[in-house]
Amino acid sequence: MKIDLHVHAKERSSCSMASEKEHIEAAIKYGLDAIVFTDHDKLVPIDHIRELNEMYSPFKIYGGIEIRMRDTGEDILVIGLQDKILEEKKWVYTELYKFVREHEGYIALAHPYRYENKIKVKIEEYIPDAIEIHSTNIGKDDSERIERLAGRLNTNLLGNSDAHNCVDIGIFYNELEYEPKNEKELVKLLKDGKYKIGCCEDRIKVFNEEKKRRETLIKELIAERKTREDYHKLTGNWEGDFDRVAMGKSYLI
Ligand SMILES: [Zn+2]
Ligand SMILES: [Zn+2]
Repeated sequence: MKIDLHVHAKERSSCSMASEKEHIEAAIKYGLDAIVFTDHDKLVPIDHIRELNEMYSPFKIYGGIEIRMRDTGEDILVIGLQDKILEEKKWVYTELYKFVREHEGYIALAHPYRYENKIKVKIEEYIPDAIEIHSTNIGKDDSERIERLAGRLNTNLLGNSDAHNCVDIGIFYNELEYEPKNEKELVKLLKDGKYKIGCCEDRIKVFNEEKKRRETLIKELIAERKTREDYHKLTGNWEGDFDRVAMGKSYLI
């Protein structure tokens, strides 16, 4: 069973271009069996999840959340919990970690090293269930050290899309050893590492061609002493692209 655990729908993530419907239909087209909506600091209402599952059965839709840490700005994925406190509280990692453990949820570090060359949350003492190694927001030049980090902490890796656009959905995914009966079983499978990361080579190639064009433009802008705001004004694209190139990172995946 192929599942993408990191997807943003525009109903709850203002930064996303694609609706739930567009994501789900694209996911089905690309051969996925399930997705998890992980919107920024927003849960998907349980009734709505139920409706979506009825509408698109046998395709599976789960609800998670991506939470920004109030002190470090890093993003943490949580799956398997529906408590409103997840979206209401301004979390620091250690508190969130304890909460998720207490309630038997799943916790993963999203896109490590995105804008910095270090990880600021205390993952050495509070080891997450997984660390994302692949997504549209993780350059492949960071893969090696992410793999080393997960190896050192003896935790799992994840491959997701972090799709903000339905053409990206399932570009990386996780292939589970078997189909979980419910969300609880999904969490158990993930925690046990009973999956393999997969990807779609053709779409990665297309994605990278576009990113290469963007990076070339950003490098030209930097040479002209232009700013991230100039880049956004000029292209309508997200300033995060500019920041990463400005710090010498590549966005190729
Ligand atoms: Zn976003
Ligand atoms: Zn995300």
